[in-house]
Amino acid sequence: MKSYRKELWFSTSKRREFINITSQVTDCLRESGIQEGLVLVNAMHITASVFINDNESGLHHDYEQWLEKLAPHEPISQYRHNLTGEDNGDAHLKRQIMGREVVIAITQGKLDFGPWEQIFYGEFDGRRRKRVLVKIIGE
Ligand code: ZN
Repeated sequence: MKSYRKELWFSTSKRREFINITSQVTDCLRESGIQEGLVLVNAMHITASVFINDNESGLHHDYEQWLEKLAPHEPISQYRHNLTGEDNGDAHLKRQIMGREVVIAITQGKLDFGPWEQIFYGEFDGRRRKRVLVKIIGE
């Protein structure tokens, strides 16, 4: 069995952002040389997510609105977590609902997606360097 590991780094200019990372994960798969197996992609921070959905700007706007309704950033005093001196109580909750990781099957050297599926990095407390882990196993 072959194994491959890589960290992808991100530093968003905004507090919240969605980034399509499908091509970067595809590059990792090519680099790994693995034809049949599984790829795990996970955010290595508790205020960011990796998720799969449609690459459609309206949908990303809807996510932003929906997440702000569920866990508004302001007022920051509404979160017990922020009593620690942080201001990212909302980002932890947003990460929880959007998920930590995705697993994708690899078939004949390709990411075996359903229709319209793309991989996204969801940042909820950006403006600093953060990582995503790509782990691929198979043969
Ligand atoms: Zn925090």
